[in-house]
Amino acid sequence: MNPFTTLSANEVLQQYFGYSDFRGNQQAIIQSVLDKNDTIVLMPTGGGKSVCYQVPAMVLDGLTVVISPLISLMKDQVDALNSNGIPAAFLNSSQGISEQRHISSEIQAGKIKLLYIAPERLFRGAYPLVDFLKSINLSLIAVDEAHCISQWGHDFRPEYLKVGDLRKELLDVPFIALTATADKLTRQDIAEKLFFKSPKWVVSSFDRSNITYRVTAKRQAMEKLLEFLDFHQKDSGIIYCLSRKNVEETAIKLQEAGLSALPYHAGLSREDREKNQELFIKDEVKIMVATIAFGMGIDKSNVRYVVHMNMPQNIEGYYQETGRAGRDGLPSDALLFFSSGDAITLGRMLEQSENHEFSEIMQQKLDKMKDFCQSRICRRKYLLNYFGESHAGNCGNCDICFQKGNLQDMTVPAQMLLSSVVRLGENFGLGYVILVLRGSKSSKVQDAHQELSVYGIGKDRAEDFWKRLGDKLLQEGYLTEAGSQFPTLKLTTFAWEKLKSKDKILLPMEEVSLPVSETKASHN
Ligand code: ADP
Ligand code: ZN
Repeated sequence: MNPFTTLSANEVLQQYFGYSDFRGNQQAIIQSVLDKNDTIVLMPTGGGKSVCYQVPAMVLDGLTVVISPLISLMKDQVDALNSNGIPAAFLNSSQGISEQRHISSEIQAGKIKLLYIAPERLFRGAYPLVDFLKSINLSLIAVDEAHCISQWGHDFRPEYLKVGDLRKELLDVPFIALTATADKLTRQDIAEKLFFKSPKWVVSSFDRSNITYRVTAKRQAMEKLLEFLDFHQKDSGIIYCLSRKNVEETAIKLQEAGLSALPYHAGLSREDREKNQELFIKDEVKIMVATIAFGMGIDKSNVRYVVHMNMPQNIEGYYQETGRAGRDGLPSDALLFFSSGDAITLGRMLEQSENHEFSEIMQQKLDKMKDFCQSRICRRKYLLNYFGESHAGNCGNCDICFQKGNLQDMTVPAQMLLSSVVRLGENFGLGYVILVLRGSKSSKVQDAHQELSVYGIGKDRAEDFWKRLGDKLLQEGYLTEAGSQFPTLKLTTFAWEKLKSKDKILLPMEEVSLPVSETKASHN
């Protein structure tokens, strides 16, 4: 008998959580758990995974154990449950022995319904938790952030392998594994490491239809960013940078521009990190400039945008990070600044890994990420397809979709730019090509290239126009960037074919410098 409640799942949802209905697949998942199936749940961030084990925890008679990697958040999660009248506790290394003993005795007395633990506590210490768990009335084990068990996931945590060992010790207890990010390989890995019989899979749609995806060239990133933030003046948002140094620099630049921004990265003291995070969550500071150390498990529903100043390492990471925007379902923006240089840097970082199989798989994921940035396919279609889901038609809510129908005839200037690249022996970057096109008076340019037929043919147009055109030609696959030191432009076969066939060169020149214009209407 459950000492707390004889309520049904629906009633628990209403009375303890204050929600009138289940959302999406929640009900099906909860039914599967109550039927004692092993269950794997794939649901995007913000989809409502917690309810899927918290409601069963109340309905079932014994204890539900939640395994979570986020020690720092356990206290908040438990406090929130307690304030809803749900008896919950956590056990972790931050507590003293007597506190841990007290909690254990409460559990033995059946006074706790939900217990949060970190995986490293399972088998370690004089009193490994596993022995304790075997001695009590256990109803369910919930494995949160289950992708942490997979080496192929983007956030592998070796201590999570212990959860597989726990599985072997508790063959009669149903497990539910939940994650927001898992490509096919990671999914299989989770199933193999956690389940011996085949589990029931519940895969929610990963579509976050309220998020507008955009990828833009990294040139003049700061100007573009400021313009973007100007549009989002009153909103909260996260800006991800690759390195701590970039985080610091960006935060300072934004502060200098008068914006309410703070940094967050693992190099800050614990107090500073907690303080900055707190200020952001309470809306006292609007912008969190952070490395990817920030965000996991943070439930802030009104994040209106997520910006990536650098390309993420893989699509799982990108999707999880962008998924932190718009949990409240309102229109939100995801903006990524792409440069091939960043892709090269990330590739080099992988080369340093000693595990070959690992770095090869990571390299493939990196290539996919790069392909996503450079592709002309509807962003949403591409992302959903990556997660094994199909999306009928184009979404109408990403930069690619916005550009369709806005094609302009750019044949003449595009030919000028492309032939300048060729005349310069495909040995220069866009900046220099533009100097030549616009007939720069600098003696360096004059001495070397004044004689070229293309010198100065583009002087009637502004530098900015040529930059935008260059970016479009890159994005549209006319040009590629090569070279390891600094990128030099080359024509693609596609460009040569276009030039030979004398076809018009139509380019989406509307969107140009900035991502935001199209949605202004919908935000107001
Ligand atoms: P996830 O862990 O999948 O990212 P959460 O469990 O944190 O998602 O839930 C995301 C948000 O949705 C939370 O603010 C939560 O309170 C809310 N939520 C969850 N289930 C429901 C529901 N059935 N009805 C309304 N809101 C819900
Ligand atoms: Zn689209």
